[in-house]
Amino acid sequence: MRTITLSNGQTVEVECLSCALTGGLIEPEGGVIVETEYFHAHQDVAYPIKGLVILASKRHFTCLDEMTESERIDYMDILTKIRKAQREALGIDYVYYFYNEDTTHHFHTWMVPRYKWMSEFGRSVESVRPVLLHARNNMNHERNKNEVRSAIKVLAEALRN
Ligand SMILES: [Zn+2]
Repeated sequence: MRTITLSNGQTVEVECLSCALTGGLIEPEGGVIVETEYFHAHQDVAYPIKGLVILASKRHFTCLDEMTESERIDYMDILTKIRKAQREALGIDYVYYFYNEDTTHHFHTWMVPRYKWMSEFGRSVESVRPVLLHARNNMNHERNKNEVRSAIKVLAEALRN
């Protein structure tokens, strides 16, 4: 069990932090980007990269082949819609996707935009980890975080209809 503090100051005990997040008990910093019957999208603000999205399952499972047919359809549908919104509302040309199955409880896909500045951290997929660390360690300043927060709002707005 973990103790979390809600926005109203109340504290609650939760068994799984991701359940509290995807179930709406706690609000991710910056807010929810989009939510479907089976999935929940938010940004991990610990890695302040504009337009980065984490798409997490609401149910506990960790491998792609554990999805039900309804989850598979919902997953591909919302993944595509988020991708389209990244392109049309934020001008993101390329996205790197990854998920790891040795996670705890919740299947989640990282959608990491590929920006030009990232090429100095390596070519293609080899740059992903250095880029995330760079963002976490050097981009956590207010100006960038404000850009990240407004991108969350732009994506949420684009996905509202
Ligand atoms: Zn959970």
